[in-house]
Amino acid sequence: MLGGTLWQDVVAAAATHGLTALHGSAGDVAVAGYVLGGGLSFYGRQHGLAVNAVTAVELVTPDGRLVRASAEEEPELFWAVRGSGGSLGVVVAVEIALLPYADVVAGMLLWDRERAPEVLPAWLAWTRSAPESATTSLRVMSFPPLPELPPFLAGRDVVVVDGAVLEDDDRAAELLAPLRALAPEIDTFGRVPAPAVLEVHMDPPGPVPAVTAHSVLGELDEAAVAAFLEQVGPGTRSGLMIAELRHLGGAIARPAVGGGALSHVPGSYALHPVAIAPTPQAAVAGRAAAFALLRAMAPWAQVNLLPTFTDTRADTSRFFDGEDWARLCRVRDVVDPRRVMQAKHDL
Ligand SMILES: Cc1cc2nc3c(=O)[nH]c(=O)nc-3n(C[C@H](O)[C@H](O)[C@H](O)COP(=O)(O)OP(=O)(O)OC[C@H]3O[C@@H](n4cnc5c(N)ncnc54)[C@H](O)[C@@H]3O)c2cc1C
Repeated sequence: MLGGTLWQDVVAAAATHGLTALHGSAGDVAVAGYVLGGGLSFYGRQHGLAVNAVTAVELVTPDGRLVRASAEEEPELFWAVRGSGGSLGVVVAVEIALLPYADVVAGMLLWDRERAPEVLPAWLAWTRSAPESATTSLRVMSFPPLPELPPFLAGRDVVVVDGAVLEDDDRAAELLAPLRALAPEIDTFGRVPAPAVLEVHMDPPGPVPAVTAHSVLGELDEAAVAAFLEQVGPGTRSGLMIAELRHLGGAIARPAVGGGALSHVPGSYALHPVAIAPTPQAAVAGRAAAFALLRAMAPWAQVNLLPTFTDTRADTSRFFDGEDWARLCRVRDVVDPRRVMQAKHDL
């Protein structure tokens, strides 16, 4: 697909062939930025980071050449560009391998936030034994009373578990049973056409001004649950719209055979608080709220970070294993010695 192509268009086109892709939670995210920064999908625990599905990239290098990089052509550049973000050139085309799913079991479970002290530890316990076929997220979400929101969200504080389970209907129901036993107010899990997986996370259909923070967490114990709930649990007013824990592990955590500079993310959960920031003042307050949650969860944080969840300036060596980081920097010195490229995350 071409440089600016959005996931919603790729997923719709793949669906006509009974296929889908390792897209993220939102249809209006572009394929290039997502895959160049790893790409965490609801198919990820089974199939790994989306960047590993890239089979070729065409990019305009800082010296103005149009180059095709694949396992056979410019293999070192192909290795480096898979994880480099925008640091090695402007990507004008990406080729990706697709997934053989026309439909999947996906959806969401919703409770009032008052239930978070039960739901959070239950979901964490569930994730510890969930098979790699299940990739889910838990979010505590707080919504203003806006008329454009659906009534089950407007003005409410809720806890939501959503994602996909790549199993047949009976096995998926068996796996989801412990979560359903918590009697969610809403349960939309069921077999849906693959493009509907872009809807389960209820991301806004277009860009929304927001500030975020991110860390990768290891295993979460009772103290971690208490720390999380102290920030965003019942009775709190954190200022965050979303406090997300995305389940990692499985193929996401394993280095991919033949992978590039970034092929895996070790860790158990990706923490991703989000605050809506319609004004500069709101952005300052939102950032403070997001980093307050990060600080509270710091005892469980790892050093590594996932680029696509990192919106603030970061030490980009934290995206890579040490040797891969050094090799990537060497490639960059050759490809862009004058530092022409100004990427979101400067290597
Ligand atoms: C609503 C929403 C939901 C999301 N859900 C997920 C998710 O489920 N999983 C996940 O992993 N991430 C998710 N993200 C994060 C998303 O993957 C990153 O923000 C990603 O950087 C977006 O890429 P983009 O191309 O759309 O954005 P852009 O802002 O256009 O790109 C971000 C950066 O990527 C680089 N880049 C983009 N295009 C090119 C190109 N053609 N050539 C070279 N460099 C390029 C540039 O450095 C650019 O600054 C989500 C983001 C949003 C807003």
